[in-house]
Amino acid sequence: MDCLFCKIINKEIPADIIYEDEHVIAFNDISPQAPTHALIIPRKHIATLNDVQAEDGALVGHMVKTAATIAKQLGFDENGYRTVFNCNPHGGQTVYHIHLHLLGGKPMGWPPYQETLKTAVE
Ligand code: 5GP
Ligand code: ZN
Repeated sequence: MDCLFCKIINKEIPADIIYEDEHVIAFNDISPQAPTHALIIPRKHIATLNDVQAEDGALVGHMVKTAATIAKQLGFDENGYRTVFNCNPHGGQTVYHIHLHLLGGKPMGWPPYQETLKTAVE
């Protein structure tokens, strides 16, 4: 399968892996948007959030729990952090293997894309 993140899982493409277990791996984003910007991905190929099935619930829950564990290990759990799933073009998804962004280490604004939001509402 021609999937960038499956290639990272299979170690065909190098990545700075910070956590891995039987179900998920986490690695640093190649273009970090915060002091820590990691991606948590399932070993199972799921293209988008729209493709998540009921039986994937525990897996997606484990992705979220892994993000919280990494935040704690890196010491920014109390200050806080942001987790994001982007879905399809309007969500800004560019890699079609679901991934949870974990951004931490600095305060972040909200909403993240105010101009885009205005355009969508108009
Ligand atoms: P998306 O835009 O799909 O939500 O997020 C994809 C993320 O993958 C982006 O933040 C992008 O910087 C990151 N990315 C793309 N290619 C690579 C790569 O080859 N290695 C790593 N570590 N991250 C990548
Ligand atoms: Zn994949």
